[in-house]
Amino acid sequence: MSNKTFTLSEDLYDYLLDVSLREPPILRRLREETAADPMARMQIAPEQGQFMALLLQLTGAARVLEVGVFTGYSSLCMALALPPTASLVCCDISPEWTAVARRYWREAGVEAMIDLRLAPARETLDTLLVEGHADSFDFAFIDADKENYIDYYERVLKLVRPGGLVAVDNVLWSGSVVDKTIQDEPTQAIRAFNAHVRDDRRVALSMLPIADGLTLAMKRTGE
Ligand code: CA
Repeated sequence: MSNKTFTLSEDLYDYLLDVSLREPPILRRLREETAADPMARMQIAPEQGQFMALLLQLTGAARVLEVGVFTGYSSLCMALALPPTASLVCCDISPEWTAVARRYWREAGVEAMIDLRLAPARETLDTLLVEGHADSFDFAFIDADKENYIDYYERVLKLVRPGGLVAVDNVLWSGSVVDKTIQDEPTQAIRAFNAHVRDDRRVALSMLPIADGLTLAMKRTGE
C-alpha cells in the first residue's frame, strides 16, 4: 500500500503538496510520529485527509463512522473538519495504536466527539445495527483488513443514510490489482471488492486515483 499519491511523479507530487496542502501542525506531528512505526504505510496520505475533510464540510456531515483507526490520522482530519456537535464512531482492534490516536484526539480537543470501539469491526457494525443506527451515518470511511472489505461495506451501507457517502481506501493497492503475478489474499480481496462495488446498483460510484486509490460510493435514495 502507498501512503502518498503513487500515480504521480515525485516532482509533481511534491508540487501538489506545495501548492495545496494545509496540514495543521498537530496532524503533521502525528504523521511524523507515526512515520517511525514499521506499519506507517497504513496511514492515509495527507492530501487524502484534506480531501476527506473537504468532503465532510461539503456534505455537512454530522455523524461519521470509521472502520480502521490505526494511529488516528484520518479520524483527526475528519474530527477537525466537523462541527463540535458532530460525532464519530471509530472501530479498531489495537489498544496500542489507538492509544496514540487518543493522545492526539485529546490534545486537539476532539476526544469527546469520538466513540472508540475496540473490537472486531464486524461485531461493532452488527452491534450498531442492533442498536438501531441503520440509515443514520452521513459518511463512513473503510480502511481496515482488506479480506473483510465486502463484509464491512455491506454492513456500512446499511448504517449510512440514503444520500450518505462510503469512502473505501487502498482500492488500487499500489497498482497490485493489475499485476497478475500477485495473488496474495489482500490483493485478491481488493479485486473482489472493486468488482462487487462496480456491480452494485444501490450506490452511485466514483473511484479516485488519489493516494492508494479511494472509492466513493453514495447510497442511493430508496435503498
Ligand atoms: Ca489505508
